[in-house]
Amino acid sequence: MPLSSSNPDDAIIWRFDSSECYSVKSGYRMLAHVSDSQIIVSIISNVDQIKRLYSALWSLAIPTKIKVMFWRFIKNYLPTNVNLYNMRIHLATNCTLCAGEAETVYHILFCPFTTSILSHLGIALFLPSSEHNWLLWLSSFFDQLDKKKMVLFVVSIWGIWTYRNNKIHNQMSQSAMDLVRFIKSYVGELTSIADNDASLCPASRMHWIPPLGDTIKVNFDACFNSRYRTSFSGVVARNNGGYIMAAGTIPHLFVPSPEVAEAYACIDALMLARDAGFNSVIIEGDALTIINKANCREADRSVLRSLVKQIHSRRAFFASLTFSHVVRTCNAVAHLLAREGRDFPGPRFWVEEAPPSVEEAALKDKRWVDLQN
Ligand SMILES: [Zn+2]
Repeated sequence: MPLSSSNPDDAIIWRFDSSECYSVKSGYRMLAHVSDSQIIVSIISNVDQIKRLYSALWSLAIPTKIKVMFWRFIKNYLPTNVNLYNMRIHLATNCTLCAGEAETVYHILFCPFTTSILSHLGIALFLPSSEHNWLLWLSSFFDQLDKKKMVLFVVSIWGIWTYRNNKIHNQMSQSAMDLVRFIKSYVGELTSIADNDASLCPASRMHWIPPLGDTIKVNFDACFNSRYRTSFSGVVARNNGGYIMAAGTIPHLFVPSPEVAEAYACIDALMLARDAGFNSVIIEGDALTIINKANCREADRSVLRSLVKQIHSRRAFFASLTFSHVVRTCNAVAHLLAREGRDFPGPRFWVEEAPPSVEEAALKDKRWVDLQN
């Protein structure tokens, strides 16, 4: 700075604009520049840590839609109220879940609602030192978690975000405990699929559990007649409220074994889901062999190979498809429907209803779910 030969008075100048006068525009530019460079410097010096976060996320054995949602969460691409406000789409910025603070992705993570859900699930968050370093905070938090806890954490954030969206768009009045139960059961199903170990199921699941959000759960079962070599498939689709969306019974001739009968029922469940236009689907049954083969990505070499191939080829119909094994008590409605099928000579389908005895059984499932609220 050149020195003056005279003795002028001190003056406050704004060095971030050539006019040396403050303007909102130059203030915004300065803030963006300073915070970005801080982030860039800290990210460059911790690049391995960030890499670990992304590779840990993409390696998790969970549906891609959940990983993509979490990635958008990390990148601040979610339509939070603050992001919608910045895009001039939304006027209110308050958090949908607690109404307390502005709804940023950062706030969603540390929202009292989120921390309460996470603490019920055994996950304790520690506070980051500054909001600007939250990506680094997230990576160091991930570093402390084992794979199972990572799955639980990522699925929880996805569940909370879906819960928040349902609250806005569907005016849903699901309780927080209901959400905790859903996350536990969903992670239980994922773990059981990943481990290919059905022994985890009976202990954790004795009752039918509804799907979350827009996902539809289709239960299937088969009634096999060894004398006449016939079978009857029972398939029933229910939504997150436990309501029947569609149901069907389908007879099959020349069925050599109960396994083939169950494979037909699984295919029938997929066809019902496709014909009804469901996009995100869980196919659930008590036939462990069929569920394991449906989940196995490799070509099947058993006598069921042509049917397993049909099951695999139907994956393309859906944006999200999960196969889940449950014990018989969780599959009572589909079982009953398969038995009812014996009364009908041809295929029968119902939309938003089912035979009275089946509706009664579905209501029983729903009552048990409602009782947990
Ligand atoms: Zn909040």
